[in-house]
Amino acid sequence: MSVQLFDLTGRTALVTGSSRGLGRAMAEGLAAAGARVILNGVNAARLEEASAELRGRGLDVIQRAFDVTDEASVVAAFEALDRDGIDVDILVNNAGIQFRSPMLDLKTADWQRVIDTNLTSAFIVGREAARRMATRGHGKVINIGSLTSELARATIAPYTVAKGGIKMLTKAMAAEWGALGIQSNAIGPGYMVTDMNEALLANAEFDAWVKGRVPMRRWGQPEELAGIAVFLASRASNYVSGQIIYADGGMISVL
Ligand code: NDP
Repeated sequence: MSVQLFDLTGRTALVTGSSRGLGRAMAEGLAAAGARVILNGVNAARLEEASAELRGRGLDVIQRAFDVTDEASVVAAFEALDRDGIDVDILVNNAGIQFRSPMLDLKTADWQRVIDTNLTSAFIVGREAARRMATRGHGKVINIGSLTSELARATIAPYTVAKGGIKMLTKAMAAEWGALGIQSNAIGPGYMVTDMNEALLANAEFDAWVKGRVPMRRWGQPEELAGIAVFLASRASNYVSGQIIYADGGMISVL
């Protein structure tokens, strides 16, 4: 198998929520495979720092700060890319938040915020990207799901609902956009070492639970998603659509 199967030279990838964590690691992997990568986040200072660091390593990285839950900002960001002559060939819908609360205490506004950030954003950004991909007849959408695309955990109901939705949104995009030359797939990470899990990582009891239950007996590292993103973005996956690939150390097989 030729290594060129994974070459992304000449392609541009937008990775939402890539100023840190999993998005940043996937952005770095896509850039290392030859893509020009557009980093995104809401915190402009953090975005600038991440972009400068990747550029310092010789990677082709630009940045666009916008809030994926703000439809007008998303549309404006794509219009600005149009004006700059930048076509998004690969979209990674990664931006997300988690909010913990028992459902009996959960405020509707917090439910909505989690659904908007983790699910509705993928539809909005996906639609804007796909409208443009369709005119060129090709495109790759990669949505970030989770273990919770398959199973519920207490105190994160809207997150679980959003990630279950990501699995079906991925299939809906595959069903509707396949004829336009657009593929849609998802990655479902397990327990990963990122800021999102800061409190859980610091909780010795939870840490022991993860290491006891995950068949590979450890947390995942962000860079362990990079190869999957490159595969799904590259011609190596040209006949794969509507799939979710779990990167969870085997967790989903045993729960
Ligand atoms: P982090 O909290 O480490 O990073 C979140 C990223 O998303 C940041 O870049 C943040 O930007 C950005 N972001 C948040 N809200 C918005 C918004 N409204 N608009 C634009 N960008 C936004 O999270 P992770 O890296 O851990 O998670 C990334 C994705 O992976 C999420 O979808 C998450 O649900 C999913 N996931 C994570 C798992 C894990 O164990 N960590 C497991 C399974 C799935 P800023 O820096 O500006 O705040």
